[in-house]
Amino acid sequence: MEYLPRVSYDLGINLYLKRDDLTGYGMGGNKLRKLEYFLYDAQQQGATMLLTVGGAQTNHGRLTAAVAAKYGLKCVIVAIDEYPDEVSANILLDRMMGAEVILKEDDHIRPQSVQSQELAAVIKERYESQGEKVYFIPMGGSNELGILGYYDCAQELTIQAAEMGISDSRIITAVGSMGTYMGLFCGLKDIESPLSLTGALIMPYEESVRAFAKNYFDKVKEHYGFEFDAEKSDFHIDEDYVYGEYNNAVPEVREAIYQMARKESIILDPCYTGKAFNAICQMVRDRKIEQGETIIFLHTGGQPGINTPHHRIEFERELIDGVKIL
Ligand SMILES: *Cc1c(COP(=O)(O)O)cnc(C)c1O
Repeated sequence: MEYLPRVSYDLGINLYLKRDDLTGYGMGGNKLRKLEYFLYDAQQQGATMLLTVGGAQTNHGRLTAAVAAKYGLKCVIVAIDEYPDEVSANILLDRMMGAEVILKEDDHIRPQSVQSQELAAVIKERYESQGEKVYFIPMGGSNELGILGYYDCAQELTIQAAEMGISDSRIITAVGSMGTYMGLFCGLKDIESPLSLTGALIMPYEESVRAFAKNYFDKVKEHYGFEFDAEKSDFHIDEDYVYGEYNNAVPEVREAIYQMARKESIILDPCYTGKAFNAICQMVRDRKIEQGETIIFLHTGGQPGINTPHHRIEFERELIDGVKIL
């Protein structure tokens, strides 16, 4: 965790950054904390292959490929392709690390989760008939098991914040498939941490986000037998800075990325962390974050995304005129 003095000065807050973008393998990111638990479970079950699903630019898929390579398992990623005319940066990395990638064009009729689930079931059966023992990991690694990585992180952050004298802080994280948020939420609650938590939603949900959160929480609570309870109103997830779509190119998000890069030499990504940092800047402007407040921003990784064609073309357009050819 590090303090960001120059961006803090700009925003009039105290901004700290938890560097989960620096977590080890396959270019790092939040999914590795979840995958620690999936890998253990897969090994216990004698799996020979990891199978997961996501969008074409899935960081979770990339890090599943990384874990599979490192621990000698095969890996298949089933991705629903929202941008059929491009090859996402992560797909190249998946292939570099030896994973098989199966792309299916989005039919724009059924939810992507349904499409990918269906296809994954077919692939699983195919490989099992060939003798593989396939371990399935859900989208984003967000199920009961997947919260444990960030349950641990909540405790780690509570200790770190106490050591740094910032126990009155608020953690802010991007919310996608919600496992990260839910893990933090449960971890903080369980030890009655003084830290608070706000999520910045980065994509639209088909149902109410709070209803989804409550549902997810109830499942997790039943699974682990937590003593504490939570109501819909306990889930602070801000939906105001989504910009309509998942992984879209947004000028405000790029401005936030440039600010962080130019003031702190920290690179954010256009899908998750750039959107979440833009949300922080907007929350300051909209007075949802007080002047002088201490914020711990969770850097969840995702930087390869700057090289995904529909983002890269915008970065090139905005940055190329600063390249002087003599
Ligand atoms: C997946 C992801 C998130 C969101 O985590 P969820 O647990 O899916 O909510 C945030 N940032 C990056 C870079 C990610 O890849």
